[in-house]
Amino acid sequence: MHEYSQISDEVLCALGAAAGEDNLTLFEPMSAHTTFKIGGPADVVVRPTSTSDVVKVLDTCAIANVPVTVVGNGSDLLVGDRGIRGVVVLLRENLSAISCEGTRVHAEAGALLRDVALAAADAELTGMEPLWGIPATVGGACHMNAGAYDACCADVLESVDVYEPGEPLADGSRARGMVRTYKTADLKMGYRKSRVHDEGLIVLSATFSLAPGNGRMIRVAMDDYQKRREEKQPLEMPSAGSTFKRPEGYFAGKLIMDAGLRGCRVGGAQVSEKHCGFVVNAGGATAADVNGLIEHVQEEVKRQFGVDLEPEVQRIGEF
Ligand SMILES: Cc1cc2nc3c(=O)[nH]c(=O)nc-3n(C[C@H](O)[C@H](O)[C@H](O)COP(=O)(O)OP(=O)(O)OC[C@H]3O[C@@H](n4cnc5c(N)ncnc54)[C@H](O)[C@@H]3O)c2cc1C
Repeated sequence: MHEYSQISDEVLCALGAAAGEDNLTLFEPMSAHTTFKIGGPADVVVRPTSTSDVVKVLDTCAIANVPVTVVGNGSDLLVGDRGIRGVVVLLRENLSAISCEGTRVHAEAGALLRDVALAAADAELTGMEPLWGIPATVGGACHMNAGAYDACCADVLESVDVYEPGEPLADGSRARGMVRTYKTADLKMGYRKSRVHDEGLIVLSATFSLAPGNGRMIRVAMDDYQKRREEKQPLEMPSAGSTFKRPEGYFAGKLIMDAGLRGCRVGGAQVSEKHCGFVVNAGGATAADVNGLIEHVQEEVKRQFGVDLEPEVQRIGEF
């Protein structure tokens, strides 16, 4: 066992057998895997190269009772400065195949939504245009039912293949999981929520059902959506997108601006000058800085307007 790790050599060997030893790293900083560019080291990062290897890795962790965190593009995550204990399964790098057949696009969980949309445009398929600027992987987008411009993942998703964790056992470990396919109608997808999230399912791949379109018009629409994002959002600075969910009847960004918090800083974390709904890493921000700023914004908005802001950004790991 490594000095700081909670992972035994036996489990490391089993993970190496499941995913290939070259696809394991120890104590890799999660700042390399989050769009916030923040986050301490993960005990182990595993990069499986096939969906069957993902299943083997997840089963290995379940049986050994080792905590697992699945990470896509890290675009919705604030990882604590002390990092993540257990195993991080990173899907973006090695699990990103995309194929088109008729009006369907099939993508592995680590494929970027952007690349799925580009493949769809090449195949003259319409439907992904409003979503393509979301910096999500397919798995992360299904987990959150990511959406933009009145569209969401559920609108174009036909089905997902998932790993369903096995039953909890008396010693705290779990039985092997099983792979099954869910139609979108059975995924309970709502505003930034889904059965994937609620039941801890792991998306392995997804099939999108699109409509025939005109390739040139699809690209014009994509460019238009991208311009709108560039105009409004601080894309030039590291962030995790909208920091807070939209409170009913309000816009988080407007409340924060009206509270006089534009540009407000805690350490390297700052309320964006361009869009107050985004906390950005203005340079050298720690997770503690971002957390401190989130709490300050929540307190001020509550004090001034009586509105509770709920974070959309997911805080994981040790702070
Ligand atoms: C500049 C910017 C703009 C953004 N704009 C939008 C927007 O317009 N609309 C929007 O909805 N979001 C937006 N976001 C937030 C973010 O992109 C979405 O929440 C996205 O769905 C996260 O996907 P991800 O692959 O990065 O997931 P991650 O951040 O890696 O993970 C998020 C959650 O999903 C889980 N997860 C990841 N992969 C899987 C999988 N294969 N199976 C099961 N669970 C999984 C993780 O465990 C974690 O709980 C934006 C973010 C940024 C940085």
